[in-house]
Amino acid sequence: MKEVILCKYGELILKGANRSRFESQLIRELRRRAAHVGKFQVRWAQSTVYVEPETEEEDIDEMYEQVKKVFGFASVTRAAACEKDMEAIFAAARTYLPQRLQGYETFRCEAKRSDKAFPLKSPAIAAQVGGVILEMLPRLKVDLTHPDITVRVEIRDRMAYIHAGQERGAGGIPLGSGGRGLLLLSGGIDSPVAGYMMAKRGLLIDALHFESYPYTSVQARQKVLELAHELCEYCREIHVHILSLTHIQEVLRDKCEEEYFTLLLRRFMMELAGRVAEEKGCTALITGESLGQVASQTLSAICVTDPVAELPVLRPCIGLDKDEIVERARQIGTFDTSILPYEDCCTVFTPRHPKTRPQLSRVLQQEQRLDREALLQEAWDSRYTVTVRQFEETPQILDPM
Ligand code: ATP
Ligand code: MG
Repeated sequence: MKEVILCKYGELILKGANRSRFESQLIRELRRRAAHVGKFQVRWAQSTVYVEPETEEEDIDEMYEQVKKVFGFASVTRAAACEKDMEAIFAAARTYLPQRLQGYETFRCEAKRSDKAFPLKSPAIAAQVGGVILEMLPRLKVDLTHPDITVRVEIRDRMAYIHAGQERGAGGIPLGSGGRGLLLLSGGIDSPVAGYMMAKRGLLIDALHFESYPYTSVQARQKVLELAHELCEYCREIHVHILSLTHIQEVLRDKCEEEYFTLLLRRFMMELAGRVAEEKGCTALITGESLGQVASQTLSAICVTDPVAELPVLRPCIGLDKDEIVERARQIGTFDTSILPYEDCCTVFTPRHPKTRPQLSRVLQQEQRLDREALLQEAWDSRYTVTVRQFEETPQILDPM
């Protein structure tokens, strides 16, 4: 008996002409991860990907953790593989299941036979394996409607598989199947979640971070690189583009009315983001905005900041409450880094009474006090890129720059 990992596609991918492209993206992503964990075979058949350790030494626990972060699978499970023969299946059930059924009181057994040449039909297979389980673990009871755990027997192309405790996969569609988006990544809670949500819908992610040294610190920048690195658990690699807004912020402070600072700054950010996106081949911007969360995220404020971005702005958190965003940040593992107490450029020179219902015309009047083009150019010239990757250390960039 050998333990393997079975990963099943979502229904979505089963349909349409994109299936083979989706499949090869999934396989490539799994093979990339497997190469870092050990020696694993990755192959696919019948809407399932099989990840099989090549030796008994491989770290299947770690491989399973990796598989759970691959977008495109509806469910994943570890399973015992054995010969397609009832005696072999009973033997596998006896050795493999006791540990997996520990702590449960009720179970159900299901069978699925994709190899129609197998002599027994699914209900008979389920009944017989269920019988073996009851004999072996008499404290367990059968509950067909609300079992604590379901044991599944699958008779597939080459082997039979038996497993208990199938879990939801990462869901979504394969990374890279939808193009590339530029995530505006602050050090906060929301933007990493936004990046994760769009990666889940197939986008490769580049990130753009604005800093305002010396008003923001090198630790604040390092924190953002750390967040990007945490996202690489799902997104493979992220090029983090960093631009300085220091001079823009000083000029805004000196020349414009305080209540417009944040809006004016955000218009610079969106415009610069559009330029970076174009240079880096990204066809959408992504932000962590949530409607009404702060003054710059009211609908009127978004109407003022959106038009300068010439690309679609994806805001996957727009309808989520803070609690919901926090919950996701915890799930994906970015929360603890996000709450480290470093300042963001948006919190430098924040107005005491920001406009919550700004008018575009008034904002444009404020902008006439500025040499906008020169300021944009100066910020643009300050850009540099740091690439972070899964399975590599986060680069340490401790110069002020
Ligand atoms: P977050 O938790 O993502 O920081 P927030 O609630 O602090 O969100 P804001 O600071 O108003 O919200 O920013 C809204 C969005 O603007 C962020 O989600 C992010 O996409 C973008 N943003 C804010 N600050 C920066 C920055 N310094 N660099 C890049 N993008 C930023
Ligand atoms: Mg923020």
